[in-house]
Amino acid sequence: MDISVVIPLYNEEESLPELFAWIQRVMDANHFNYEVIFVNDGSTDHSWQVIEKLRSESDNVKGIKFRRNYGKSPALYCGFEKAQGDVVITMDADLQDSPDEIPELYRMITEDGYDLVSGYKQKRYDPLSKTIPTKLFNATARAVSGIKNLHDFNCGLKAYRSEVVKSIDIYGEMHRYIPMLAQGAGFSKIGEKVVQHRARKYGHTKFGLERFVNGMLDMISIVVLRR
Ligand code: UDP
Ligand code: MG
Repeated sequence: MDISVVIPLYNEEESLPELFAWIQRVMDANHFNYEVIFVNDGSTDHSWQVIEKLRSESDNVKGIKFRRNYGKSPALYCGFEKAQGDVVITMDADLQDSPDEIPELYRMITEDGYDLVSGYKQKRYDPLSKTIPTKLFNATARAVSGIKNLHDFNCGLKAYRSEVVKSIDIYGEMHRYIPMLAQGAGFSKIGEKVVQHRARKYGHTKFGLERFVNGMLDMISIVVLRR
């Protein structure tokens, strides 16, 4: 299989049909053999019913369901365990990331030899309360990790060589610094691609200031523990 798209989601019922239809268009146009793994992180809306409907309509759809809300990192972890593609692409469910980026991300892994390619939302459509803490987070992450060429560690849109996702354990709020974990596991060819970003079309953000503070604390503890 060429590509597994792993999509963690928490209460995103409105976005899912549109997102899957878009992914399907891109995959078919490029003749990719693929699967889309929706990981339902304890949604309390109808997200799971929507996934079941998509699954009944297409063999390319797979679903994982958590009984409660565990968080984005555990959702990615379970999606990574199940993924069968040579290249694994993660994407948020809210239509802020564009499936049109998939072919070039795939090419960068398979032809340019990258282990991991992180999206870079150079122009973001998020409120200032989000973009300012993000800048601070990324400056700190660049300084402590030595991965100087990444601007957007926490971008939900990323592509990985399959071995990378099978070699890292992510939990807590660790999805914010997967590039550091990949580097720690011996994968050094880490690149970046400027990607389109869009305003959230439905629903609302699940990551407020409190989660940001927890993320910063996690990062400090990782650095201290590594010494
Ligand atoms: N998400 C999740 N579990 C959570 C919080 C978020 O699976 O506990 C998903 C969410 O549904 C979305 C992605 O993680 O698909 C990114 O979340 P969000 O769009 O709220 O974050 P933002 O883009 O505002 O940083
Ligand atoms: Mg979002």
